[in-house]
Amino acid sequence: MNLIGEHTDYNSGFVLPIAINLRTYVAAAPRNDGVLRGWSLQEAETFEVEVARLTPAGVTGWPAYACGPAWVLAQRGWSLPGADLLVDSQIPLGAGLSSSAAIQTAIGLALSDLAGRPLEGRDLADVAHRSESDFVGVPSGTMDQMISALGRRSTALFLDTKDASYEYIPFDLMAGRRALLVIDTGVKHRLRDGQYAERRRTCEAAAAALGVPSLREATLELLESGVLTEVQRRRARHVVTENHRVLEVVAALRAADLRLVGSAFVRSHESLRRDYEVSSPELDLAVESALAAGALGARMTGGGFGGSAITLVEAVDVATLRRHVIGAFDTAGFGKPRVFEVHAEDGATAHR
Ligand code: ADP
Ligand code: MG
Repeated sequence: MNLIGEHTDYNSGFVLPIAINLRTYVAAAPRNDGVLRGWSLQEAETFEVEVARLTPAGVTGWPAYACGPAWVLAQRGWSLPGADLLVDSQIPLGAGLSSSAAIQTAIGLALSDLAGRPLEGRDLADVAHRSESDFVGVPSGTMDQMISALGRRSTALFLDTKDASYEYIPFDLMAGRRALLVIDTGVKHRLRDGQYAERRRTCEAAAAALGVPSLREATLELLESGVLTEVQRRRARHVVTENHRVLEVVAALRAADLRLVGSAFVRSHESLRRDYEVSSPELDLAVESALAAGALGARMTGGGFGGSAITLVEAVDVATLRRHVIGAFDTAGFGKPRVFEVHAEDGATAHR
């Protein structure tokens, strides 16, 4: 889950995710016939394929997410003996909490572990990312896979997507006096894929027009130089100001100033809503109602157009906030949101 730094990861920018205490589990048993079989407790479809015959176009639906890591490893010369995989997940699918990165990271770890060389860190993230972009065919930044692989309890990962360097930042909820909540609007981000690709293209076009390698190198001054269209200028302004806000939150966390973190959340949401235009009525209501109930801050998280918002709140106010947000959704005629507490946990781990 991304604390802040939204739509910056494909612009060589900063992000600040945490691995949350919801898990995707993969039970994996080795086979010796090169066959991959899979079941998921979240999906009815099962699959059975030969690893050697995998092609990106040949697998669709959830099995693509399960087979992708095997294909990537095979492409890299690993000889996989085959496996039976059973998946179960606590992460709501398609809710902006990156169940896709979780399943691919977990399977990448399971398969490499069965092959006797468990991958970790950036290497594991890279397998999961290649799987999503080259096998499943969803272009995405690297953030989700990096945090799934690298997450650590009570810390956030300050990641510079320009060079994949990272640093762990203490993410301390002050011994339980503050709480971080997810508000899952229940709205699947269906619109997102086309819009996501469109935002990426706009950012690339804006960077090209400004003569910089990516919007990471752009400044607010440069954006006003008159070469951008109105839409490009607003999209780019979100990226430039969002990068600043990530740095601001990193400094605030180091100083244990959660009020400042909350204020950056609010400004981030405004920027995503007005400049980047990736919010939705449900996400806006989640943020507004959380703030009205006294939250320190709130913002949409993930790609937008549905999915989840997050909010930072005094622990004593959690029940009030939950009641208030659910009430506001009811009044607006929206479906009931799921509101639950999360904290920063360890990322992918193997158990035998
Ligand atoms: P998000 O990553 O925000 O949850 P995505 O659309 O990127 O949403 O990924 C969701 C897809 O990932 C699902 O539709 C499914 O194909 C696959 N997936 C994720 N978790 C599981 C799981 N536990 N079992 C089967 N498929 C899963
Ligand atoms: Mg995803």
